[in-house]
Amino acid sequence: MSRVYNFSAGPAVLPEEVLKEAAAEMLDYNGTGMSVMEMSHRSKAFEEIITAAEQDLRDLMNIPDNYKVLFLQGGASQQFAMIPMNLMKKKEADYIVTGQWAKKAAKEAAKYGKVNVVASSEDKTFSYIPDCSDLPISENADYVYICENNTIYGTKFKELPNTKGKTLVADVSSCFLSEPVDVTKYGVIYGGVQKNIGPAGVVIVIIREDLITEDVLPGTPTMLQYKTHADAGSLYNTPPAYGIYICGKVFKWLKKMGGLEVMKERNEKKAKVLYDYLDQSKLFKGTVVPKDRSLMNVPFVTGDKDLDAKFVKEAKEAGFENLKGHRTVGGMRASIYNAMPYEGVVALVEFMKKFEEENL
Ligand code: PMP
Repeated sequence: MSRVYNFSAGPAVLPEEVLKEAAAEMLDYNGTGMSVMEMSHRSKAFEEIITAAEQDLRDLMNIPDNYKVLFLQGGASQQFAMIPMNLMKKKEADYIVTGQWAKKAAKEAAKYGKVNVVASSEDKTFSYIPDCSDLPISENADYVYICENNTIYGTKFKELPNTKGKTLVADVSSCFLSEPVDVTKYGVIYGGVQKNIGPAGVVIVIIREDLITEDVLPGTPTMLQYKTHADAGSLYNTPPAYGIYICGKVFKWLKKMGGLEVMKERNEKKAKVLYDYLDQSKLFKGTVVPKDRSLMNVPFVTGDKDLDAKFVKEAKEAGFENLKGHRTVGGMRASIYNAMPYEGVVALVEFMKKFEEENL
């Protein structure tokens, strides 16, 4: 068996330790004589799994008691609709558009109410985060929406926007658990888990209790109401049980690693190796304004499409997988989530140096 260095933006690399544990438990989970895939979601064994997963996430993120943690389905994209359906009481919301995912979320929300784009970085291909210290926040906005880390473009909000007292809603799909966060600054934090936490199929929503009400837009399906899932402890219907089990293992792994402060240090150290190299390279160039650079997704280009393609091909042959940039932007992108080891990034940079020497 040989594992590659997998730089995929998602689904993405998971800790090897977690995969090995899951493999060892595949046929007989904890003496139950069955795998977690095969057991009832109402069983005692699964109840323990989901309870521990929630508690470990609460510990890691220091989630206050007045927030619910929901394990849902439908991917991050389903939240693009659930958020307005549940939160747009005054039928108006402000969106900060820093990439395709925020743009898609804004477009979806516009089906349900008035969407104001109060800031955007589309003018420069989403290569920066706009100044959000004094935005024209709408008086009637039920919430202000951001995508905190832009997976495709490699930007990250280093400071949260000044929402002028309005509820902040954040898509953290690609920076989930990569560093500590102050949960109290948000009304809703949500993300698909398939980048930093677990297998695709689970989306985690952390939502302040006062935002969970029966007062949702008329016609909102039962399954798309936060209250349905909050009241049932994420067990209203059959949850993505195996996915939640793996998420739980990753939470335990993160705790063992030392928690989110330690992850932040590790992630900064990893990203620095790559950014430092890019900053002095004569062949490769980072595409993001330095102050807004993501620790998780690092896009770069040579400026020559054919050379980009050659790099991606040769990198793959050398065991560095999924370095092709998003289909909408081209170039390259290295996603270096929590589970990407430091050695993986160092090895990539060594490979890039060699490629530079050969192709300059
Ligand atoms: N938000 C962000 C920041 C993403 O990166 C992605 C997926 N790459 C999505 C939303 C959409 O996620 P899903 O495919 O789970 O709907």
